[in-house]
Amino acid sequence: MSRQVRPVLVALIAALYASATSAWGPDGHHTVGAIADRLVAGTHAQAQVDALLGGLTLEQAAVWADCAKGVDPGKDFAYTSAGRYPECAIFETAAGEAGMIDFVRRNDSNCPHAPGDPSCHTQYHYTDEAIERRRYHLGDVGTRNFDVVAAISATIQVLRGEPAPAPFDIKDKREALLLLSHYVGDITQPLHVGAVYLDACGRVVDPAAVPFEPLMDTQGGNRIATIRVATNHRSELLHATWDDIPEALHANHVDAAWLALARAEPATRGDIAGWSTEWAGTTLAQARLAFKDLQFGPLANGQWTVPLTGRYDDSMEPIKKRQLTAGGARLAHTLMAIWP
Ligand SMILES: [Zn+2]
Repeated sequence: MSRQVRPVLVALIAALYASATSAWGPDGHHTVGAIADRLVAGTHAQAQVDALLGGLTLEQAAVWADCAKGVDPGKDFAYTSAGRYPECAIFETAAGEAGMIDFVRRNDSNCPHAPGDPSCHTQYHYTDEAIERRRYHLGDVGTRNFDVVAAISATIQVLRGEPAPAPFDIKDKREALLLLSHYVGDITQPLHVGAVYLDACGRVVDPAAVPFEPLMDTQGGNRIATIRVATNHRSELLHATWDDIPEALHANHVDAAWLALARAEPATRGDIAGWSTEWAGTTLAQARLAFKDLQFGPLANGQWTVPLTGRYDDSMEPIKKRQLTAGGARLAHTLMAIWP
């Protein structure tokens, strides 16, 4: 599959992903959780959430899966980021760190895993379905049975009292809820689902239509550097441009008008086991918008480049708001379906 890249590249990509893949960053995840908190308020589902999370809100819980990335398998599974991320402070107790360490130990090399590959649990946060596809389909280039689509289904199974399917190792309902509250946000970030594949000249290629080469993989935009047209300066990676959200979309701006949008979000059709597949399909449409009209420079030093204008920045905000809103509503719908 697409992650079978060459060893040198693996190290580079692992470093990039370790620092850059946290869909939405903490602010976006807080917003998704905050919307869900409001939508489940007063329901049976909220009582179950309270009981499992011991009083943590979904807004607080939604960053746990990223905080767990502070556990370093290369340092005997020590938690190495204490004090570094304010949103993780609530988990930095002796029991809290032990919980993150235990999760990472069980979910480090349980997937197809070669030396140098990123820890398995860090790969539960995304998939790389080509934007040429209209729907997510497990088996396509870039998909895995331990990607974000599979991870959401696994957490739902555990919350419904069934064992997690392999390769996931989810110990109980509390851990499943911590993970679900995060992954439901990840699956709405366009670059965590829809991938553009590029040749060495920077031309978009459909990985299903050409002989696939691992080097075509842009790693969710983590191998694409943005260049600000106004200043001609290299800026952050394209992935990070999408993880960041403007101040107006932070959780403290979730007001009655925004909640009305979330309440209007349609329910997902079909059996709950297939919901994450449906959600990936809708995010693919947003990813096509995210990549629309972008022109990529040739591959150099392991990266492509893309010039971005102020107009592109303006076009991102409504997509981000739509996706965060969908994430919050779906998290609430899922919890209320599990605990009607
Ligand atoms: Zn994530």
